[in-house]
Amino acid sequence: MTHEGDVTPHAKNVGVGVKAVGHGEAATQLGFARAGAVTEAMKRVAQREGLDAELVRSEVAQGRLIIPANAHHLATSLDPMGVGLVASVKINANIGNSALTSSEEEERKKLHMAVHYGADTVMDLSTGGDIPQIRQAIIAASPVPVGTVPIYEAFTRVKRVEDLTPEILLQVIEEQAEQGVDYMTIHAGILLEYLPLVKNRVTGIVSRGGSLLAQWMASHHAQNPLYERFDDISDILRAHDVSYSLGDSLRPGCLADASDEAQLAELKTLGELTERAWAKDVQVMIEGPGHVPMDQLEMNVKLQQRYCHEAPFYTLGPLVTDVAPGYDHITSAIGAAMVGWYGASLLCYVTPKEHLGLPNEEDVRHGVIAYKIAAHAADVARGRRGARDRDDALSHARFTFDWEQQFALSLDPETSRRMHDETLPDGFYKEAKFCSMCGPKFCSMRITQTTAGLLEGEVPSGQPPAVPRESEASLPAGG
Ligand code: SF4
Repeated sequence: MTHEGDVTPHAKNVGVGVKAVGHGEAATQLGFARAGAVTEAMKRVAQREGLDAELVRSEVAQGRLIIPANAHHLATSLDPMGVGLVASVKINANIGNSALTSSEEEERKKLHMAVHYGADTVMDLSTGGDIPQIRQAIIAASPVPVGTVPIYEAFTRVKRVEDLTPEILLQVIEEQAEQGVDYMTIHAGILLEYLPLVKNRVTGIVSRGGSLLAQWMASHHAQNPLYERFDDISDILRAHDVSYSLGDSLRPGCLADASDEAQLAELKTLGELTERAWAKDVQVMIEGPGHVPMDQLEMNVKLQQRYCHEAPFYTLGPLVTDVAPGYDHITSAIGAAMVGWYGASLLCYVTPKEHLGLPNEEDVRHGVIAYKIAAHAADVARGRRGARDRDDALSHARFTFDWEQQFALSLDPETSRRMHDETLPDGFYKEAKFCSMCGPKFCSMRITQTTAGLLEGEVPSGQPPAVPRESEASLPAGG
């Protein structure tokens, strides 16, 4: 079942200070960090973040930073990245089919779209078709960490929910770990005794995995098998260096259910499980809500940090209002920006199709851009070194009417150029000191320059543009 002590796949990541890892010791990034070793993956994360490698090691060792990097994926197409307070805020894009629609090719296109626009991780949430084959194709093509929710595949292997066995669950988890999945959502925190806590909720249990597990527990009158077998699961994850993304089965599905007893009871259990995973050198991040009013967001981040010992927080949005189906990339990006500012480390995107249907390629693009904005705004608000350089450079380009530079620095250059071209397509207007918004006579920036010239005898050029940091400048096209 497990491969304790299997360190071969990590050979290229054994860093300075590591001579050997003995049989039975954990060959995970957390295990190396605790042993004082700086791995190649940690060095790469340090380079991408503009941090000292020793700081990265120290944060990984304390569980505040994770490097989701399955040894098998790391040995092939993965470019290691970090999720944690010390790193820039990251975004995840969910892809994957449903039993009703999509194909392997469509999912590959979504992966490409997500990575092109700057998704830092992707989750394959496929629930139909040949799930292992689609996942294999995604892992092979993905330079970013790939996450999954193994319980989806486990439930496709049984006819009825109550037919699921702990053995099937562990088997699916192990198969996915062997395939190269970098992190897994494991819904181990929803306990049998928490089920009565949702009876007065407006939207009940909205997590797919959580609702299925609740049905299984209710039909068997038995405890959550993911909780009961948690240490066995940790052994599997450790053998391949898969990170936990501890699932929030009891997240609120509407504002009315936010921060209720069920949600917080599960969060405390996730804190307990975090320590059990760490005891086996398995990296952990914690999934969070959901739908939460803005005034409860800071409290939610603080509680997660307290209960879960500062393990990185990975939130779904949160959506700050329930009234905008079709626009939930916006309702959720507002919450995402705020929790990112308060201390969340990874923001799971929501697309305009949320609650309405399976997102297509275009929905993925809208979701990723919305979340690049949220994550970047959070980095700026956190005062992260260099985070505002790109804003300042774009503002300078804007004030000096350097349209080409303004497009190039945009998160979505194609769209900003297209919108400018809609009214002023001629090349001449790419040097014009106005656009169609106010026109030449009312262009306030042109007027400001003229006024300053009259007062000072010179035209203000604004602050000289700072050069975006490597991590910003090297983002995939469009951001
Ligand atoms: S016309 Fe208005 S919107 Fe356009 S560049 Fe000038 S001030 Fe900005």
